[in-house]
Amino acid sequence: MKQIAVYPGSFDPITTGHADIIERVSKLYDEVIVLIADSSQKSSLFSIEERKDLVSKSLSHLKNIKIEVHTGLTVDFVRRVGAKVIVRGLRAVVDFEYEMTMSSMNLKLAPEIETVLIFARPETYFISSRGVKEVARHHGSLDGLVPEVVKKPLIERVKGK
Ligand code: ADP
Repeated sequence: MKQIAVYPGSFDPITTGHADIIERVSKLYDEVIVLIADSSQKSSLFSIEERKDLVSKSLSHLKNIKIEVHTGLTVDFVRRVGAKVIVRGLRAVVDFEYEMTMSSMNLKLAPEIETVLIFARPETYFISSRGVKEVARHHGSLDGLVPEVVKKPLIERVKGK
């Protein structure tokens, strides 16, 4: 049976850190589904369709990737596609509590699904979507922070905001 991993997140926008996690996970599973969470709780810079498009363009070199959008519980989506694994990235210690709480909740809701945490590599552990938006707003260099295809749309979008 095909081993599928689901990597959920906001990806507003996708960063080099996200892309690195996806590349590494794509070597461990037959298929990785990047799940863009459609959360009304968070105000976003890019629309769902734009985020999907940026993820897709950034990962066009990977063959076993799918990009999906989901509103609602991640575990419901994971079950529906027949996956057993949720992947999350871990940066600094501050991520730990949030990820642990969320993985415990998901385990309670769906005991058959495991959360697998992948450590960020030293070159990208400080990168966040929020951080790259801030850099773009203040005209800092985005080199190494976001995939090349994200640079222009990000710079354009933060203009005047
Ligand atoms: P969320 O809003 O659910 O935290 P994000 O899109 O910000 O979604 O992140 C999705 C996942 O990727 C989270 O597990 C987050 O910790 C992880 N992540 C974010 N940035 C990095 C990075 N630079 N390196 C590794 N993992 C990261």
